[in-house]
Amino acid sequence: MDATYLQSFLSDSARKTTRSEIRELLELVTQPDVISLAGGMPAPDTFPTEELAELVPSMLRRHGGAALQYGPTEGDAQLREEVRRLTEEDGVTGLTTDRVAITTASQQGLDLCGRVFLTPGDAVVCGLPSYLGALGAFSACGARLAGVPVDDHGIRTDQLEQRLVDLRKSGVRPKLLYVVPDFQNPTGVTLSARRRNELLIIAAEFDLLVIEDSPYRKLRYIGESPPSLAALDSDGRVISLFTFSKILFPGLRLGWVVAAPEIISRLVTAKQPVDLCTSPLCQVVAREFLVAGKLPAVIDRTRTLYAAKRIAMLEALDRHFGGESGVRWTRPEGGMFVWVTLPEYVDARALLAKSLERKVAFVVGSAFHCDGSGTSTLRLNFSFPSIAQLDEGVRRLAEAFEDVRSEIGPRQREPATTEQRPLVVSGEHALDRLALTLALTEMVA
Ligand code: PMP
Repeated sequence: MDATYLQSFLSDSARKTTRSEIRELLELVTQPDVISLAGGMPAPDTFPTEELAELVPSMLRRHGGAALQYGPTEGDAQLREEVRRLTEEDGVTGLTTDRVAITTASQQGLDLCGRVFLTPGDAVVCGLPSYLGALGAFSACGARLAGVPVDDHGIRTDQLEQRLVDLRKSGVRPKLLYVVPDFQNPTGVTLSARRRNELLIIAAEFDLLVIEDSPYRKLRYIGESPPSLAALDSDGRVISLFTFSKILFPGLRLGWVVAAPEIISRLVTAKQPVDLCTSPLCQVVAREFLVAGKLPAVIDRTRTLYAAKRIAMLEALDRHFGGESGVRWTRPEGGMFVWVTLPEYVDARALLAKSLERKVAFVVGSAFHCDGSGTSTLRLNFSFPSIAQLDEGVRRLAEAFEDVRSEIGPRQREPATTEQRPLVVSGEHALDRLALTLALTEMVA
């Protein structure tokens, strides 16, 4: 099929997604000796392969009828009860089953929120930066995006309020506020307890529904967790998305959404034409795994491994970027990512080009900024590479940084001028970056 001919058949949303920049990049990153700090994948050594090899055959004999049949759109009743209990244990009191539905992992939860709440042109408020898959899901529904800066304590609630005031003055009333409160992808930062309360007050004041996307909450290596937004929500405006992807294995494609019954009912109705139901086979596997009490051991094992990898990455950064480099990075207490801020005069794309020459990949930070800002930032992943690769990868990254600096020369090392950015932007940039980054992270796996 000729690509130009195909173009005339495409929907507006598909036409906006280009893969033009990708080919060139792929040639570099698909080389087998590239160390990828780019992906967002769990380490395969955390997967419960042995436990599953034991569980699945007998499970099929006992529950084959249900596992191989279609199932209810809202999910297997007993699995819903299991995840309801898990969520209640995390501080969401009085949680009833009608407030829980199973999704085909959190990405589907994001997609369904887009389908249920967004008409093209509606505005969504999100962090600068934000998880690209969410920006992509909302943008595919024609959303406009309004970004609010994120610092070491999460989204800046003071600026959030001001932004909402400014948006109202210009006639824009966003419907949704999207946040990853725990160990955010991409920055690794956690929203402070104080800001969680402020965020909910602001959401009530400005009539926003809040999407709490929380894949990493249980992956805490140090410190204490603030309450989830689901636990703090007193007026049913929080929609919380949880997933087994990072605490069990992502191939399961299983998550759950917690929200007011009226919202759950809308999401379930929207889910029907998408997939009828989430794979019953996967749901029975998860259910039996949970019923057998095997989840806590997998989470413990994962935490132990990632805690060591987190230390390896932070120590490597201290070692190779310490001193006068002008490079700063977050020190997340959990999750899978560290966020690096380069001196303003260094463009992360130039660093990526030099890094790929040295066979190290990462994701440039501007990809996660809906307005294209963040040009001197980048995301590093520490869950997937080995400890040896983490150290070597950061060492090569530091060499690449020196290459870029020496090319820039002292005279040009002035901060870039900060241009005035619009209050709300179309999601096109997000869709474009999504295509590019998905390709990058898939291929360098
Ligand atoms: N939200 C966030 C913040 C993520 O980081 C990811 C995966 N990287 C997802 C949602 C989607 O995960 P899944 O669909 O596997 O649950």
